[in-house]
Amino acid sequence: MGEFELIGRLFQPLADATRTPGTLLGPGDDCAIQRVPAGQDLVFSVDTLVEGVHFPFQYDAALLGWRALAVAVSDLAAMGAEPVCYTLALTLPEIQEAWVSGLVSGLQEASLAFGIGLAGGDTTRGPLTITVQVHGTVPTGQALRRNGAQPGDLIAVTGPLGGAAAALKWLDSPGDDTNRPFLECYHRPVPQLVLGQKLRGIASAGIDISDGLAADLGHILNASGVAGVVQTDSIPRQYGTVESSLAQALYGGDDYQLCVTVPAQQWNELPETLTRQLYRIGHICEGKGLQLERSDGTRESLAPGTGYDHFRTRG
Ligand code: ADP
Ligand code: MG
Repeated sequence: MGEFELIGRLFQPLADATRTPGTLLGPGDDCAIQRVPAGQDLVFSVDTLVEGVHFPFQYDAALLGWRALAVAVSDLAAMGAEPVCYTLALTLPEIQEAWVSGLVSGLQEASLAFGIGLAGGDTTRGPLTITVQVHGTVPTGQALRRNGAQPGDLIAVTGPLGGAAAALKWLDSPGDDTNRPFLECYHRPVPQLVLGQKLRGIASAGIDISDGLAADLGHILNASGVAGVVQTDSIPRQYGTVESSLAQALYGGDDYQLCVTVPAQQWNELPETLTRQLYRIGHICEGKGLQLERSDGTRESLAPGTGYDHFRTRG
């Protein structure tokens, strides 16, 4: 099977099955065409997953499809955006129809779950790499950025952290079964779209946690020019290997929960339906950097750059 047969047999049907109303033209032309409603800003982001770097060798194709789209859509969630359409750049060592079908089934499941349609792509030969560019919309001027945190704001996350890191440990060395229950956290990340959208106009800053809480909250602090204090006991965790669960929550990536800052006044006025889904973990203050506060009140300053960086070793 050649490139164009592959597109026609597998990707065109995926596009047809997942198309959303604003997509005026899908795959098949030089560009796709998407109508952006008046009063909306277009937000977009691209994510690349390389075999052996972002997912294990011999990783299941359907899980990869879900994961590739989920992690890209998570950036839309972090901006408070609604998903619209995506393009897919796929680099394959060779065409194995069964494998690509598996990938397409995972993509389709995720596309339908997140309400985002395939609008086009590019298919090339080389080391296995999957790149997804997602497009979404937000009401004009309302995107959640990283740079709006202010002293006095509260810091919250949308769910338990560290599960994906526990899963990765198990995938690395499957012997220790304590981490096995957390495999789903890695295999099937769920972007927090609804919460992201609900937090528009409420959160002063937001980010999705892809590289660990310490690193990603650090991005908010840097972008906003403020400092943060986090109470370690209040961080919701997936209990993998118990003694390392705090480290997994702080430094392990791939959880795709959101971390947001909310002005204290706003927090007090939030409906219970929303606060029930937010875990308050600390607050913003003047200064620089992130401090961890233990239950006995002692504080530890974290060095910047404690998350994952492709070109540096862990600090
Ligand atoms: P061009 O040479 O103009 O870049 P291509 O030959 O790369 O066009 O692609 C032909 C058409 O097929 C384009 O509309 C493109 O969006 C679509 N396409 C290619 N690969 C994929 C894919 N993996 N998924 C969806 N659409 C694809
Ligand atoms: Mg092309």
